[in-house]
Amino acid sequence: MIPGPIEFDNDVLAAMGKQSLSHVSPEFIDIFADSLDMMRKVWMCPNGQPFIIAGTGTLAMDLAGANLVESHDRVLVVSTGYFGERYAQLLDRYDADINVLRSVPGEAVPIELIERELRKEKYKILIFTHVDTSTAVKVKAKALGELGLKYDIITVLDGVCSVAGEEIRQQEWGIDVVLTASQKAIGVPPGLALLVVSERAMGKFMKRKSKVRNYYADWTNWLPIMHAYERRIPSYFGTPAVNLVSALNISLKQILEEGLENRFERHRRTGMAFRAAIKALGMNQIPADECAANTLSAPYYPSGVKASEFLQAVNQAGVTLAGGLLPELKNEYFRIGHMGKINSDEVIVTIKAIETSLKKCNHDFNEGAGTRAAIDILNVNEL
Ligand code: PMP
Repeated sequence: MIPGPIEFDNDVLAAMGKQSLSHVSPEFIDIFADSLDMMRKVWMCPNGQPFIIAGTGTLAMDLAGANLVESHDRVLVVSTGYFGERYAQLLDRYDADINVLRSVPGEAVPIELIERELRKEKYKILIFTHVDTSTAVKVKAKALGELGLKYDIITVLDGVCSVAGEEIRQQEWGIDVVLTASQKAIGVPPGLALLVVSERAMGKFMKRKSKVRNYYADWTNWLPIMHAYERRIPSYFGTPAVNLVSALNISLKQILEEGLENRFERHRRTGMAFRAAIKALGMNQIPADECAANTLSAPYYPSGVKASEFLQAVNQAGVTLAGGLLPELKNEYFRIGHMGKINSDEVIVTIKAIETSLKKCNHDFNEGAGTRAAIDILNVNEL
C-alpha cells in the first residue's frame, strides 16, 4: 500500500515473464499500436499524440521539458511539494527562466494567485503536479487547463500520481501534456514513461528555433517511431521495453474494461474511506480537505508515536506503508498509497493494521473507529 510501485495484476505480471518479442514483429507492432490507441482513451485525448518510452516518470517530466522549453523561455511552476521542486530543478538544465509559485505544505496555490501572475508576465509554459506524492495535495487541473487556454500558455500536468486514478479529461480541459509513469495507477511495473501531447503543443514543438538538447528525449527521434507503430510498419530508434509494453497493453485493456468513470468513482470512495478512517483515529493529515488526493493519503503520526516504530509494526501486521518524503516534515507523517486495483478488503485490512500498530505504539484512541468509518463509506460488511 505504498504510492508506487503498486501491487500488479497477475495477467499483467505474466506478460513480464514471457519470452521477449522482436520489436519489429507483427505481433509486437499490434501490441504497441493498440497501446497507443488505448492511451488516447484513458487520457481522454482523442486528438493527442501518445508516446511510450522506456524510462521512469522523471524521464516523462524531462521529455516535456526538453522538447517544449528553449533557452530563456519563461516557465511558471506551481509547486505543491517535492515533485514540483524537482520540475524546477530539471528545467534549469534547459536554461529556462523559471518562476516557482509555492504553497505551504498541505495546501494548493490559489488559482487567483496563479492567474494574477499570468496577467503580470507573459509565460510560455505553466507546469503543475496534479497530485504531489509528497503531500497528497491535488490541484484543480481543469481550472489550470482553462487558464492555459485563456492566456495562450502551454500547460503540462505531472500526472505520475493521478493518471488512471483521478479524473483527468485532457482534451476537454485543454491540457497540453499529461505525463505519467507505469508503476502507479496505470498498473504496470516500473520502467515506462508515458505521455500524451496535444496538437497545439506538438505544433509549438515543430516551430522550435533550437535543437533539443537531450538526444534520448528528442521527440524528433521518437515521433516517427510512434507514427510507424500506428501505421503498423516496422521501425527503430531505441529498442522498446517489449515486455513492459506487452504488460501495458493488458493493463490499459483492464482499465478501459472497468470504465474510466467507474475507476474515478472507485478511487474517490477509497480516498474518502481512508480520510474518514484517519480522522476517526484522531490523526491529522497533511492535505486540507478541499485539496486532498484520492490516490494516496498522508496522515501525521499522533504525538508520541515514532515513525520507525510505527512503520515496523505495520510491516509486522502484513502491510507495507511509506514514510514521509517532504524533507521538512519527513519524520512527522507517513503515506498510504491507494491506487490501481485496490478493493474494499484491502482498504479495511490496511486500516486494521494501522489500528494494531497505533495500539502497539501506545496511542490512545477509539479502537475500531477507523475500520467502522471506512466500512460506512465503502458500504461493505466487515471482513
Ligand atoms: N512526479 C510525481 C508526482 C511522482 O510521484 C513521481 C514518483 N514518485 C515522479 C514524478 C517521478 O517518477 P519516477 O520515480 O518514476 O521517476
